[in-house]
Amino acid sequence: MFDIIISGGEIIDGTGSPAIQTDLGIVGETIEAIEDLSQAQSHQIIDAQGLSVAPGFIDTHTHSEGILLIDPQHANGLLQGITTEIVGLDGMSFAPLSKENYHIYASYLGGLLGNPPLELDMSSISAFRSHYHRRVAVNLAYLVPHGAIRLEILGFNDLPLVGESLKTAQKILREGLDQGAVGFSTGAIYYPGHWATTDELIEMCQTVKEAGSIYVNEPRVGNPRRAFKQGGILEGLEIAKRSGVSIHFAHLKTGIETAGKTEELLSPVDKAKIQGVDCSMDIYPYPTGSSTPVSFLPSTIQEGGPYAIIDRLRKSSHQKTILEFLKTQSFAKLDQIIFSYLSKRKDLEGKRLTAISKERGKCPEQTLCDLLLEEELKIGYVNAPPQNQVLLDCINQDCMKLLARPDYMVCSDITPMGRWQHPRCYGAFPRFLGRLRRNSQFLSLEEVVNRMTDNPARRFKLTKRGKLAKGYFADIVVFDPDRVIDKSTYENPRQFPQGITFVLVNGQVAVKQGNCTGILAGQAVP
Ligand SMILES: [Zn+2]
Repeated sequence: MFDIIISGGEIIDGTGSPAIQTDLGIVGETIEAIEDLSQAQSHQIIDAQGLSVAPGFIDTHTHSEGILLIDPQHANGLLQGITTEIVGLDGMSFAPLSKENYHIYASYLGGLLGNPPLELDMSSISAFRSHYHRRVAVNLAYLVPHGAIRLEILGFNDLPLVGESLKTAQKILREGLDQGAVGFSTGAIYYPGHWATTDELIEMCQTVKEAGSIYVNEPRVGNPRRAFKQGGILEGLEIAKRSGVSIHFAHLKTGIETAGKTEELLSPVDKAKIQGVDCSMDIYPYPTGSSTPVSFLPSTIQEGGPYAIIDRLRKSSHQKTILEFLKTQSFAKLDQIIFSYLSKRKDLEGKRLTAISKERGKCPEQTLCDLLLEEELKIGYVNAPPQNQVLLDCINQDCMKLLARPDYMVCSDITPMGRWQHPRCYGAFPRFLGRLRRNSQFLSLEEVVNRMTDNPARRFKLTKRGKLAKGYFADIVVFDPDRVIDKSTYENPRQFPQGITFVLVNGQVAVKQGNCTGILAGQAVP
């Protein structure tokens, strides 16, 4: 007797093998049979005739840990078919942190991660994981964030992590990995992580290597003078070469300035692979990203953390330093900023910084400083997409070209705050699965599914996930391969995708006929 039979669908097992039409039987949390079950009995039957049945999608890069504590249903992830999310990315998250440091970091990261309940125990990875286990709709895997470790040991300060403090950092990291974290992460532009040198990261990654875990690198942009070859993927590859760690690059893709140059982008990776570096990547299918502008501020202004930053924003001498810095930084593209989230001025969500600066009669740099102060740093933004259709088509094409590589996987990079979120928060997976796949010759449906399921599960060592096989957890997506599509756009982001009819998490129906059921069956994995 089965609990659920999914009958007559095209079973895509996640490995890239061709789909086969048959039935799938579930007992409890796991898949018990993939064969003709027309004579078998079941409490529930899901008719999947004409539909594809795939493993639940694994999102290798999301920032949903804050919002999940407030909105455990997490419809914008779940309705994309995502059943497992990896969080703790870019070197920043909530654990392991003392109560005081948790409050400090939550305040600094508010524009990205929102306002989580401050009474929670975040002092260890075990404690962090317990807040999600069977309490949220999706499974959650965690990376130990570099910034949190630095904050615990050195405070929010520009100090070197060496000697005894480095040993303590490695011990904290190892404890986290032993308590179920699936890797270690660093970020592109976020403090206090960016006070690190490449040598510090090599030392930290030796611990990751010893634990048999993985290092997730968002290629460094900020504080480049501390980095080997000014950061970027060259720093990451150097860390991997010298520590021997397996490395995974976060959202490595072309953008407005690099459209069409996929080979140039990947050439250092391929050279390093020949030299024995174990490297993988992920990607979201959009031309621009989103983040929080607190990360634009120079190193000297960041010193001391969020309260010190707010204090400095009030003083004209520091404002002058910030304005001069912003005018010289190429990564702070102020003319492209659309505000996605402001903690107070909701009416400014969806507005461009340049428009607000015109209204206020001040330069964009000054307006941004004023807003950071008014909002106590809690601001999120999206970078506007290019208007040129040829360029957009080229970037879409690049996305599929990159995804065709077997060392690529899919991520959303969900930054879930505010009314004007990045469209990837609602559409990343169905966009690859439907719109881009149907317009491209590069990958079969089975291959696209592989990049979303078995590929990441093996890379991040998620036990019995990512594949439809007997004994595996019943994380399953049922979708119409001809109809599945993202509806979310930069102009109208909060639109759920279409064509995904059922989502099961650990054997429980979390989405039924396209609607969330309210079931919170997610687990802290692996
Ligand atoms: Zn990210």
